[in-house]
Amino acid sequence: MAEILDGKAVAAQIRAEIAEEVAELKDRDFPVRLDVILVGDDPASATYVRMKQKDCEEVGIESRAHRFAADVSEQDLVALVEELNTDPRVSGFFIQLPLPEGLDSMPLVSAIDPSKDVDGLSPLNAGRLSIGLSSLLPCTPHGVIQLLRRSGIEIAGKETVVIGRSNLVGKPLAQLLLRENATVTVCHSRTRDLPEVTRRAEILVVAAGRREMVGVEYVREGAVVVDVGIHGREGGGLVGDVRFDEVEPVASRITPVPGGVGPMTRAMLLYNTLQAARITNAGA
Ligand code: NAD
Repeated sequence: MAEILDGKAVAAQIRAEIAEEVAELKDRDFPVRLDVILVGDDPASATYVRMKQKDCEEVGIESRAHRFAADVSEQDLVALVEELNTDPRVSGFFIQLPLPEGLDSMPLVSAIDPSKDVDGLSPLNAGRLSIGLSSLLPCTPHGVIQLLRRSGIEIAGKETVVIGRSNLVGKPLAQLLLRENATVTVCHSRTRDLPEVTRRAEILVVAAGRREMVGVEYVREGAVVVDVGIHGREGGGLVGDVRFDEVEPVASRITPVPGGVGPMTRAMLLYNTLQAARITNAGA
């Protein structure tokens, strides 16, 4: 039976640390504020934004949402990005993705000042991560690393396999695992004989976006299994990319869905906002 990697508890600990530091900065009159740009009326995006704003409130970070109709022009959005880049009251900001059809996220994300890019997704921050320079890190991969570290899991020297190569999760996670001195294999939709590859993993991270794809045949006995996937379940609730009930008996540690990587992602957004506030206020 596997021990549960409790993302909810670890995230609560990180949020408490952040709240303390935010209070200290505010005592010194340093603003800590997170802005979000929300385009269109996708209900899931609206819910995510509400959750993120609630998270901010809980740790004392001010937040503002800038809402636009789905037919807003790229020009208007770039104008707002440029305004937020130079507004000293704004510590950091992000664009809630995905954007409505017809709007390309890349020119907008690229226009964000890298020191305010709290999603860590701008090309400059992605490049800095890949060559080992400090940067604001993408929240989900950073959350996975923090969860492993704070749960006392040694990463250095381990055989790690990541399923997924997205710019949001798989690729930056592979970079971070390399930085932690793991041996890293990245798998994707064209990988041949996936279970044969993943069975080598002492740490297996699944970010394929395929509901309950990974069963026991993918998992080495005693592996640490991190499930990044999130899918709504019919009749309510959430499931991940891993068949939890089947994998849990062979793994040594495993993340639940919900309560694993999700809360860590949310906590790392707050962490990045604090980092960005420190950068913005450096020298003040
Ligand atoms: P994505 O669709 O952009 O990327 C999926 C990756 O998985 C691709 O690189 C693809 O090649 C690979 N893949 C797809 N099917 C595969 C298969 N059958 N075999 C091997 N590889 C396969 O998705 P993403 O944005 O990286 O997100 C992945 C999952 O994580 C989604 O379920 C998403 O909802 C979830 N997610 C969760 C959080 C969180 O906070 N927990 C954050 C971000 C994303």
